[in-house]
Amino acid sequence: MAGPAADAHLLSLGAAEATPDWFVHAGAAFPDLVLLADLPRPGGGPPFAGAWAGVLGGRLNHALILGEEPEAVIAIGINPDLGFEAAETLRLRSRRLNDYLIVETGGFRIAYRAAAGGLEARLATPAGEVVEGLLRPRPDLLRRGGTVGAVARDRCGDLAAASSTGGFGSKLSGRVGDTPLIGAGTYADNRTVAISTTGHGEYFIRHTVAAQIAGRLRFGDETLAEALRHVIVDELSEVGGDGGVIAVDASGRVEIAFNTDGMVRGWTTDRLPPQTMTGGHAP
Ligand code: ASP
Repeated sequence: MAGPAADAHLLSLGAAEATPDWFVHAGAAFPDLVLLADLPRPGGGPPFAGAWAGVLGGRLNHALILGEEPEAVIAIGINPDLGFEAAETLRLRSRRLNDYLIVETGGFRIAYRAAAGGLEARLATPAGEVVEGLLRPRPDLLRRGGTVGAVARDRCGDLAAASSTGGFGSKLSGRVGDTPLIGAGTYADNRTVAISTTGHGEYFIRHTVAAQIAGRLRFGDETLAEALRHVIVDELSEVGGDGGVIAVDASGRVEIAFNTDGMVRGWTTDRLPPQTMTGGHAP
């Protein structure tokens, strides 16, 4: 079920409802952006409003500065892959100088540069004061929600998978992602494996990721780790689909794979205490 009929059905079961504005926040139009710590104001006082930036692949891709007036939202894109032609600004002038993106407005001049751990910013005020600092991502202010998946094998050998998501920001109205589609984002079969996925749902649907992993185990001679690697690392990476999966197989083996820099994950078994990780490779 999807759409108004699904909403009505869930409400009749007593589900809590949120109004659309709960899901909307300043960065929603730019889902790849992270909200950085506010830019300090020289001489103290309240910091400049939140600065948003996207640093992908170690390169500054785009920046969005929320101006002081409510309507003064400024977007600067410098990544043609993301739909920007060039250093294009909506409200401000900007230019590239070597590694820097320089933005000028109302006598202020801000130079941004991608740096380890955030975005380096150097702000010069009309009075000639200079503030420098590293704008760090604020995980607490990132997108609300996100995707949560779980897979389990119980003592009787029954496998189960569950996934829940808010999908993507700026998604098309009516879009159904991979998460609720059995075989794409979620799948469990006692004969093989339980799978839950996160990532670019369109790719997980096209490649029937969860069912494909189970099929590789059932009809091929791959191990779970090999099947995950083939589907996530080889197949999805090749077409540009980012994401990962968590899996537990019929023997109780836990495997996790992703082709992104990290994925928040945790696991436990009757022999292993609970463990969690965000980056790196594991388990
Ligand atoms: N897979 C989800 C979707 O495409 C999003 C996510 O996992 O972040 O809707």
